[in-house]
Amino acid sequence: MGIEFFKDIIKITLPTPFPIGDVNTYIVKGDRLTLVDAGVNTPEAKAVFKEGLRKAGYQLSDIEQVILTHHHPDHIGLLDQFSAEIYGHEYGKNWLSYNAPFMNWRNEFFLQLFTEFGVPPHMLTILGNLEKTLRFGSQNSRLAGFLKEGDTMPGLPDFHVFETPGHAQSHLVFYREKDGLLLAGDHILKTVSSNPLIEPPMEPGGKRAKSLLQYHRSLKKILELDIQRAVTGHGNDIASIRPLLERRFERQRERAELVLSMLRKKPMTVFDVCVQLFPEVYKKETGLTLSETVGQFDYLLEQGNIQVDRIENGAIYYYGK
Ligand SMILES: [Zn+2]
Repeated sequence: MGIEFFKDIIKITLPTPFPIGDVNTYIVKGDRLTLVDAGVNTPEAKAVFKEGLRKAGYQLSDIEQVILTHHHPDHIGLLDQFSAEIYGHEYGKNWLSYNAPFMNWRNEFFLQLFTEFGVPPHMLTILGNLEKTLRFGSQNSRLAGFLKEGDTMPGLPDFHVFETPGHAQSHLVFYREKDGLLLAGDHILKTVSSNPLIEPPMEPGGKRAKSLLQYHRSLKKILELDIQRAVTGHGNDIASIRPLLERRFERQRERAELVLSMLRKKPMTVFDVCVQLFPEVYKKETGLTLSETVGQFDYLLEQGNIQVDRIENGAIYYYGK
């Protein structure tokens, strides 16, 4: 019962408690029976996953290895259920189990960053919300090995590893040249654009990555490949990548234009702009909407269209030229 185009791949879709909705996991039959991505840590997701495996003729203990496209909670949640080895990008190493020192400096990183963004002090409690989503991830797993650009997948030598940071700092995609299959994770999704999330650097003291700019570079990287079909972390497969990405680039440029016109009227912080771009939504999805907004600032700075106006109580104000 492989998916329509690739007989060696089984897709199992699981429910999540997140706004994105269901998440996809894939069983790949190679030299080792491989699970790509591990869903979310809820009893519902676990039950649906086990049932999907059973229908395919397998059980949990048959999985010989797990390979991660990225470390987000909806892709690592069931890891604690497996004794199999787990592989992924090195960045994910801090996220698969509870790690107090990492949590502390991660919180310091966001506190500093959100202050620069101009987030009002009473809203800094959102740092606690960030932590809440982690309970849907794994609590006690570790990477057995790190994958990087130029590697092949262990046990699946036809699949080449590409680093595609942007949506996540750990993001990898896996490409099989002989039939043009891309295991795309959340790098590209069919019906929604992948949010270039702001994440702390891997080690304390580093700078934040400019994730929207990174994301653009990572999209251009996969446009070099002859992709026939991409199977993704959420929603249906994508048969034709290029027109989809052109629409995404266009949409992003429009949003940047809008932000530029706002900053030409008066100097504003990232938070000020975020509130205007995402009224109401910003309250619930503060991390997502701030990431989306600061991406436009990074883009406009790179284009030379905006400049720092002043710093007030630690918050940076920009104006449009
Ligand atoms: Zn996801």
